[in-house]
Amino acid sequence: MTDNDAHAPDSLEQPWARAGRQPRIAIIGAGMSGIAAVVKLHKAGYTDLTVYEKSDRVGGTWRENTYPGLSCDVPSRWYSFSFALKADWPHRFAYGPDIQSYMESVASEFGVTERVRFNCAVTDLRYDAPCWDLTTSTGERQRYDVVIAATGILHQPVYPDIEGLDSFAGSAFHSAHWDHAVDLAGKRVGIIGTGSTACQIVGAITDQVSQMYVFQRTPHWLSPLPQKAYSSGWNNFLTRFPFLQRVIYEYYYQLMVRTFSAATIGNKFMQRWMSRICLKHLADNVPDPTLRARLTPDYEATCKRMIFCSDYYPALSRPHAHLITDSITRIEPAGVRTADGELHELDVLVLATGFNAAAFILPTRVTGENGMDLEQTWDGAPRAHRAVAVPGFPNFWMVEGPTGPVGNLSLIAISEHQVDYIISMLDRMKADGLAAIAPTQSAYERYNAAMREAIKTTTWATGGCKSWYIDKSGVPNLYPWFPMRYLKEMHDPDYSEYRLIK
Ligand code: NAP
Repeated sequence: MTDNDAHAPDSLEQPWARAGRQPRIAIIGAGMSGIAAVVKLHKAGYTDLTVYEKSDRVGGTWRENTYPGLSCDVPSRWYSFSFALKADWPHRFAYGPDIQSYMESVASEFGVTERVRFNCAVTDLRYDAPCWDLTTSTGERQRYDVVIAATGILHQPVYPDIEGLDSFAGSAFHSAHWDHAVDLAGKRVGIIGTGSTACQIVGAITDQVSQMYVFQRTPHWLSPLPQKAYSSGWNNFLTRFPFLQRVIYEYYYQLMVRTFSAATIGNKFMQRWMSRICLKHLADNVPDPTLRARLTPDYEATCKRMIFCSDYYPALSRPHAHLITDSITRIEPAGVRTADGELHELDVLVLATGFNAAAFILPTRVTGENGMDLEQTWDGAPRAHRAVAVPGFPNFWMVEGPTGPVGNLSLIAISEHQVDYIISMLDRMKADGLAAIAPTQSAYERYNAAMREAIKTTTWATGGCKSWYIDKSGVPNLYPWFPMRYLKEMHDPDYSEYRLIK
């Protein structure tokens, strides 16, 4: 019997946990959380897994983003799957192409790639108890017992709403859709945005271009990135002693959680320490006091996502680099016009203006019990129960869903813990012969009310900035407690928070 035969609707009349068969699981997205889901579910004995991927390769954000300077500011030895540690990372902070080839090799080695339906976006999910009807962009329709959305957080580019954007006569593209056909050498290049992406791009391209214009709306806090290349000797040593790779993984885990995470959730000592590092980095690299003042944030460090980049300030201090802080009034065929009336003439315009942080699985239409629509339920302010489930949507799980710990953590690690939680739920369904499982409305409300209360004291809410963390309801869409608490939540599920449907 082929996988497709197995999905014939008749065979799904009986809930899987009572029929003694494998649950048919659809995983949406073949990025790092989709890869983690397949590997961990398979290891836990759940083997009927189909992955739907809108693109033609695995890798998610690392496939999508190919801009110059792309790297990960989370240490590579931690930004790795716990089940596939890699001894030979070339750098302490991996570059995008190295991470993409790691994703592809893990997916291939662990049998993920062969389960992926590529170029197949899931457009519609409809709950028809106790299963989900899934429809794809290719017109395929299947029924699944369980759906896991591993669609990532920041995957829909945001284009700025600036008058005349379409009138620009040169090349204009979003950072997430880098146009590699455009040769930057000797060109006048402008970039809108000064987030992590923009800083990496500016650091990488400024030396190639004739003029570099950086349009800054808000200065960001920027820490140096202690990048270094690993020697082959050290990597060979780690290959021979894999337990050391595990020790280093745990070391970075603890280090990042106890420093950056602590700073964001209210540890003032850590926050001051990080501010000092950033201000020293600014002072050391930007000798011009006027430029330095324009680059100094007037809100607290870690309020927005911290940036780690060592070559942005030196690039900005080059004679042909210009920091523009007057607001943009419009874009014209020849360039960008700012509020002081000046036209900054450009050949290339890069939009490093970020992503829609309220999307998650949307725009896939998700219809739960009693016709509940997920987009309407969220209404621009997505929330979930423990970041993985929503009441009214049984047997529907999210990896990296709303209010999970993000910030400067390894999202690979967080994804893995969330998959462990989902596995616990499947195990419980199996043990009790359940047809479906969904969080109760009251547990969801209690959890989110506690979060709303706790978030008030975090720097994300009190630091005096606007960021993509803050959603339409005006509240940061983040986990407000120490990440270790979240890991405990993930490994000690409270089933009384769930409707266990027979
Ligand atoms: P971002 O952090 O959202 O930054 C967007 C930038 O564009 C901000 O500077 C923003 O200004 C500016 N902007 C947006 N709309 C604008 C407008 N209409 N006019 C002028 N400026 C505008 O986006 P990102 O840099 O692409 O980063 C997104 C996230 O991706 C990061 O927070 C991070 O989580 C992740 N990332 C991670 C890494 C890594 O190394 N791990 C690397 C790159 C990205 P304001 O600040 O004033 O809003």
